[in-house]
Amino acid sequence: MGIEIKLPDGSKKQYEKGARPLDIAMDISEGLAKRAFGAIVNDEYWDLGRPLETSCDFRLVLDKDSEAPVFFRHTMAHIMAQAVMRLYGEDRVKLAIGPTIENGFYYDIDLDDVRLTEEDLPKIEAEMEKIIKEDLPIERFELPVSEAVILMNNQLQPYKVELIEDLVKDYGTEFVTFYRQGDFTDLCRGPHLPSTGKVKFFKLTSVSGAYWRGDEKNKMLQRIYGTAFSKKADLEEYLAKIEEARKRDHRKLGPALGLFTINYDYAPGMPIFLPKGTDMLNELLKFSREKHIEDGYREVSTPQIMSDSLWRTSGHWDHYSDNMYFTEKEEQQFAVKPMNCPGHILAYKSSPVSYRDLPMKIFEFGKVHRYERSGVLHGLFRVRGFVQDDAHVFCTREQIQQEVIGVIDFVKKIYEPFDFQYRAELSTRPENFMGEIELWDIATKALRDSLKAKKMDYIVNEGDGAFYGPKIDYHIKDSLGREWQCATIQLDFMMPERFGIKYIGPDNNEYQPVMIHRAIFGSTERFMGILIEHYAGAFPTWLAPVQVKVIPIADRHTDYARSVVVSLRGKGFRAEVDDRQKSTNYKIREAQLNKIPYMLIVGDREMQNGQVSVRLRSEKDLGSIDLEEFIHKLTEEVKDRKGKSIFE
Ligand code: ZN
Repeated sequence: MGIEIKLPDGSKKQYEKGARPLDIAMDISEGLAKRAFGAIVNDEYWDLGRPLETSCDFRLVLDKDSEAPVFFRHTMAHIMAQAVMRLYGEDRVKLAIGPTIENGFYYDIDLDDVRLTEEDLPKIEAEMEKIIKEDLPIERFELPVSEAVILMNNQLQPYKVELIEDLVKDYGTEFVTFYRQGDFTDLCRGPHLPSTGKVKFFKLTSVSGAYWRGDEKNKMLQRIYGTAFSKKADLEEYLAKIEEARKRDHRKLGPALGLFTINYDYAPGMPIFLPKGTDMLNELLKFSREKHIEDGYREVSTPQIMSDSLWRTSGHWDHYSDNMYFTEKEEQQFAVKPMNCPGHILAYKSSPVSYRDLPMKIFEFGKVHRYERSGVLHGLFRVRGFVQDDAHVFCTREQIQQEVIGVIDFVKKIYEPFDFQYRAELSTRPENFMGEIELWDIATKALRDSLKAKKMDYIVNEGDGAFYGPKIDYHIKDSLGREWQCATIQLDFMMPERFGIKYIGPDNNEYQPVMIHRAIFGSTERFMGILIEHYAGAFPTWLAPVQVKVIPIADRHTDYARSVVVSLRGKGFRAEVDDRQKSTNYKIREAQLNKIPYMLIVGDREMQNGQVSVRLRSEKDLGSIDLEEFIHKLTEEVKDRKGKSIFE
């Protein structure tokens, strides 16, 4: 009996039942068959060697197609697991999960008492190369779950047995699939390449700990990460990028530049900002504060610790308590604030509000604390205590769109000095929404129309909004092309309702305002981590913790150097003198290493003429100029928060 396959161009072809995608590719051309990694059959990934049972929509996946990596990265994960088994002994290696991820793959492996380090990776890579050379055919087969459990028990693979039991419990699965290559068999949904020889360009990148099922009560397994591409140039580009990211890692660079430290024994997840880091934070907040005030926001300061009844009204006590810190005094329960909104509502409620007072825009650099599991803490990116540049706009329903547009314009102003590209995501009504559908529709339309009006680049995440309202999230792209979710604009009808806040309309009746929650840096700590990596520590002058280093050539120039520092500090610049007994070249090199924007070298001539010899961190030498002129230009550069030196 024949089957009919429908190709993407709409043409149809007849085949025998059981024909394989590889046969179909060979029919077209041998070259095409060589370039094929797999197929898509009725929207499902399909191995080249897997027989087709019914008529279907059919498309080959070639090396250049976006789906190609799924096939070869999955296969790489198996080759890696097989290599580890060969090296460390089959009875000792227990496999957990091995998925593909963006740019690569990983496998979580229980190796008993063996602790892998990055030094072990080349040895595993060499074994993988052997498996690739052996060009082992990869076969797919199905088993009923009872037999599958027996097979995995025989292979001493307890994690796989658990996974099969989960499939039965969660989905009522009756059959599971396996893939076999040589003496290696793994429980796997696929898809895979037809043989191990077909993968080309890969590299193992790192090894780290990972708990089974992500739960720290379970055993810590070892996760080996790798990457694979169909083209050598792509692999090399990617490796260069991760090497650059590694060099820029803020967890190393931040402490090396004296910006912050984190003491994981005494204050896990709570960064300690050192003077230089605090200078930077203050610059960020100063900039943000100026812009907020220009835009008509008013600043408030609300309490760190507030009573349980407030958090019960807001809903946090019921829905968010796992992430909150609590304290008790005089038999009353209190919580450390995880969010600033309830405090801002108390500010709103402090006196009657008229429609003439709306929109009311209040902001706070509010420090919040949120519990995160120890295992997920990560430098400044994932912390337990952080400062939000948090604001709430209280407005009427009619004002929603105008205010959202206002916030979109404001976000642009805040991101401007950092040269970020960004895009937005609009998240709409989820299934478990609260409130009236009508209001949701008004709000979602307002957000969508605002994005369109501002010609923003955006995508829609249907059903991904918060239960209390739709939202816009911003994703910024850093200098390495990595994306970070930062700003958020959320409409909220629930909190005004829960707290019963009102305004008096023109008709003297009471109405309920709408609340827009918005943050732009998001977490200031995290934003600073992003900036450290974005600039690789070479911050624009306005942000740089030390803006100018003054270097006297000899002892007799030290007093003059100090007077230059005094003049600079008098104008509000962060300047230091380097009067150590070291050579001038040594001091210049060190200042460059610390990415200080300006070095002023002073000797006899500069001292006599009231000048300074200016060097940039880019090693450019500008020669001697009057100190007055230097200060004048620096003032201009910093005032405009320029992205690069005014002297370049
Ligand atoms: Zn809020």
